[in-house]
Order: sequence, then C-alpha cells, then structure tokens
Amino acid sequence: MVPLVPLSFGCGWTSAGGYGIGMNQNLLFAAGLGLMPPWKVVDSGLKQEGEGAKHLYVDIDLESGARMPCPRCGQACALYDHEIKTWRHLNFWQHATVPSARVPRIKCDEHGVLQVGVPWARPGSGFTLMFEAFAMAMAREMPVSALARLMGEHDTRIWRIVRHYVAQAHREQDWSTVRDVGIDDTATRKGHRYATVAVEVDRTGRRPARMLFMTAERTATSVGEFVSAMPAHGAKPGQVQMVAIDMSAACQKGVAEHLPSAQVVFDRFHVMKLAGEALDEVRRQLQREGANLKGGMWALRGNEARLCPEQVEVRRQLCARHKELGRAMALREDLQETWEWLGALSAEIHLRQWCSWAMRSRLEPFKKLARTIRQHWKGILAFFPHRITSAAIESINSIIQTARRRARGFRNFENLKAISYWMAGRLDIRVPSAFTHPI
Ligand SMILES: [Zn+2]
Repeated sequence: MVPLVPLSFGCGWTSAGGYGIGMNQNLLFAAGLGLMPPWKVVDSGLKQEGEGAKHLYVDIDLESGARMPCPRCGQACALYDHEIKTWRHLNFWQHATVPSARVPRIKCDEHGVLQVGVPWARPGSGFTLMFEAFAMAMAREMPVSALARLMGEHDTRIWRIVRHYVAQAHREQDWSTVRDVGIDDTATRKGHRYATVAVEVDRTGRRPARMLFMTAERTATSVGEFVSAMPAHGAKPGQVQMVAIDMSAACQKGVAEHLPSAQVVFDRFHVMKLAGEALDEVRRQLQREGANLKGGMWALRGNEARLCPEQVEVRRQLCARHKELGRAMALREDLQETWEWLGALSAEIHLRQWCSWAMRSRLEPFKKLARTIRQHWKGILAFFPHRITSAAIESINSIIQTARRRARGFRNFENLKAISYWMAGRLDIRVPSAFTHPI
C-alpha cells in the first residue's frame, strides 16, 4: 500500500513547488469538483512532500471582488478575512486528491463576522462530499478497515463519516406506518452480551424487513427504549398491532408494560429453538449416565435435510441405540409439523396432541417444554391467522452478524449499530450536494 500524504501538508496553495500545467486542467478539475462561480480552481498539479507519495493538489479561490451571502440573512457581503483549509477528496488515478481553498469569513452589517460554507464539503469535515458519498457506498459492501486501508485513511475517520450520515438518516426515519414488529436479541459475542433489535415485519411478506431500532444489552427495559423512541419517528405505541417475541420473561414483561394493546406472537423459530434445547438436554443426560454419544452433538442438531450423509447415519444409529434419543427426536420432528398446518384449528389440534404425548414421554425436558407451550398457548397459535414470521428477525440477525465482521466485532457498539442500520434499516441517505452521485 502506498502511503498517502497526510492532510496537514497536502495543501498546494500558492503553487509553490507544484507541477501545474495550465488553465485547461484547472477548468477540468473545477468541473470534476462541480465548482460554480464565484469559486474557481486557480492552480493544480502533482506535488511530492519529501519521500512521500505524490498527491494532486487543487487550489480553489473566489473570483476577485466576489461578495458572498451572509449565512444567516443571505445578504451579499464583503469578505472580512480568510483561512486556508484542505480536504481529502477521491483519488485521481493513484494519487490522493487534496483540494484546498481560501475560505472566507464575511462581515454582515446585521450579523457581524461569520464563516462561509463551501459547496463541496460539510462544515467541520475534512473530506469532500464526494469522498463521503463514496465511503458510504463502499462501507455497505466491505469492511470499514479494508476501505480505510484502500483510501489511505485511518478507520476512525471513516467511521465518523458513517456514523454521521446514518445518525442523520435514522433520526429522520418515519415509523408512522409500522404495524407489526419483531423484537429479538442477538448475541454480540458468544453468549456474553446481547443487543436487542426491533424490526418492522411486513405481514404480506412483500417488503423485506426493516431494522428500526437497536440497543445494547437485553433487559425488560429494552422494549421500553424502543417504545420511547417512537414519537420522534412519528409513531405511537398504540399503532403496533402485533409483536413477535421469544418466550423470555424479560421480553414478555417489557411488551406487557410498553405495548399493552399489541397482540403477542410467539413465533415458530423460538418454539423450535426450545425444542432443540430440550433434545440437547436429553443427550447430555444420557452422557452423564455414561452413554457413548460420540459425534452426537452436531448430528442431532437441526433438520435431517441440513446434515451430510455421514451425520444422518450417526443420527440414525444413535436414535436406534438409545430409545430416549429416538423419542426426543420424534417429538421434535412432530412439533415441527405444527407449523405446516394452514389453519389455526388443525394446528391447535396437532399441538394439543403433541403436548399430551410429550407429557407421557418420560423425558423431563420435553415435559417442561409442553408446560411452557401450554402457558403460552394463545401467543403460539396467534401465529396462524397472519403467519407473522420470524424469518424477518432471522434475516436481520444474519445481517448483524455480517455487520459484526464489518465492524470488527462489538468493541465499539456505536459503530456496529451504525453499520447495522445502514445495511438493514433501509435508510434514505443523501449526501447533501447537487454534484454527488446518489448512493
Ligand atoms: Zn446577515
């Protein structure tokens, strides 16, 4: 990687030592940057500082005698003084482009001395808008650390761009049409920390799920945090008609307190997760009793269709040798069939039969699961009329796992949150400039 010239001495202003080659080139760069009069490029060229790589300097100035509007009242004002500022722009071929400009302050009769903005950068940013637009587009496609290396920038500076635009777009996001939501937690590091995520689920399944909200930790107050954020997005808690959650006490308590009018749905995914855990418990119990269940941990997990032929064979042999395992496996597979019924009534009959079978199974983990299911009967069957599905939550979770790799783990939760919103929040991000390409 070629080291790029640090911004601090990237400025070519007054053209000392540059290789400027004339007027046409300046016009070209002015057009490239989208400059309009009275701004113009006065000099440009390649420059090398010491042993560093060459960079392209583009010196921008106002036409002589130009007056600039007061940022407060718009009155054309005389220039008061100026300061030379530099920005990082996109690369020109392999060279970093470093525009610099004499940025004036004006003196308004009414408002005094004020800083004038420049059309190619946001106030206070060391990057041009075009660079920021490029960084935002790339940050959705590749890890920020890789992007930073590619652009020869420190990744904290790129993260600052991402957080700025995401926060702005998320703040303005409209939730007024949200009807159904899924609230779930996601492991931020294997079993260590959780983040709670709220997603908008489209009942018709026509639109992809939209991540609305993400907060660190997972407690009874996480649901409250989401609900508290609603008014700022033009939404009221009462508009939420259905909420899909897991059967954890914390989540149920949160929903009962903060979304009392919403119909609670315990979705298929969470029920089947509990069934998988019950099966795992049966396996561990056998192991504690001295059974040799080598290879069982993975071979017994999930649907048979997902296993390789060797694992299927291991599973079948284990289930044949250990009656308890065979029973547990049959129970899990039968429970799965509950969700294959189209009608709520058929599903209810199936589930009732399943529960009484589980209670007679002499498998404590499945008896416990049957009791849990009976306690959450209404919410589990609420799945059926609308089939509000956890597929949306699962897809968001997989995006967060990708985001975690992009953000290099969870060390900086704000970065993770920003990139997750950017990837899954369907944000409307517009870099505010007439000359930037839309992201
Ligand atoms: Zn003014």
